[in-house]
Amino acid sequence: MPFTPFHLGPGLLVKGAVPRHVSLSAFAATQVVVDLEPLTFILRGEYPVHRWAHTVAVAGAVGLAVGAALWALGRRWRTTAAPALGRDLRWSAALVGGVIGGISHPLLDGLMHRDVRALRPFAETTWVLEPKGVAVLHLGCVMAGVLGAILLVVRRAKA
Ligand SMILES: [Zn+2]
Repeated sequence: MPFTPFHLGPGLLVKGAVPRHVSLSAFAATQVVVDLEPLTFILRGEYPVHRWAHTVAVAGAVGLAVGAALWALGRRWRTTAAPALGRDLRWSAALVGGVIGGISHPLLDGLMHRDVRALRPFAETTWVLEPKGVAVLHLGCVMAGVLGAILLVVRRAKA
């Protein structure tokens, strides 16, 4: 994705599908942490900008760590100012949200960025789309987000 926010579309869809089992907060925070890598290298003017943090193995581990960290913070929030955020950060949901966020990030980025080698160290495979495909990818991410938001609203209305 060109921007971290596009990742949130698929995250919202997963959250909408299984809201109690996936933390959107952990998913979203993982996107930001993983994209600190290209931001750092862009600011330094060093290429490639997508390196080890954009592999399934490392991004998945980053997601696990982010999920665990947010769970620890969520334990405090659950009883204080943000109870809904605390509920989103239950132990298993935070870990699952972080790991799904981490694993999906390089897989999706690989559709757009030629320097992503998401399967390292096992393979150097790439799967970059043509420009038209990238436009469809962006549209698909937005539509996934809209669908996920609708699912969440419908589920909340039924609750
Ligand atoms: Zn990225």
